[in-house]
Amino acid sequence: MEDCIFCKIAKKEIPSSIIYEDEYAVAFNDLNPQAPTHILVIPKKHFTSLNDLDDEKTMSALFKAVKNVTKKMNINEYRTVINTGETAGQTVFHLHIHILAGRPLKWPPG
Ligand code: 5GP
Ligand code: ZN
Repeated sequence: MEDCIFCKIAKKEIPSSIIYEDEYAVAFNDLNPQAPTHILVIPKKHFTSLNDLDDEKTMSALFKAVKNVTKKMNINEYRTVINTGETAGQTVFHLHIHILAGRPLKWPPG
């Protein structure tokens, strides 16, 4: 999708520190990390949010990507977050899964 920053990252049209990639997904470090490890996992195909995700291959691929990333990074305690919609804190409207690790995380989140 034109003018989508995460589409551009997936296509490597703008730089990011990509740490994992497969046929369906890309993972890269968050620009503004909220924990010592803060990785974003995105589908290569544009979905605005979880509400739009209707492709089962991508659904399973995203979970596989999370598992592959955490295995590769040697992280086995972490939080995954998907913000859906503005009131939930979504600021980039290309579906992404946050992986946060490396410090104690409180619950409930703010
Ligand atoms: P959201 O608030 O939509 O759940 O999360 C968006 C995340 O994308 C934020 O944590 C923000 O720091 C990150 N982000 C926004 N723009 C960029 C960018 O250009 N590059 C990278 N690596 N992360 C970004
Ligand atoms: Zn996009």
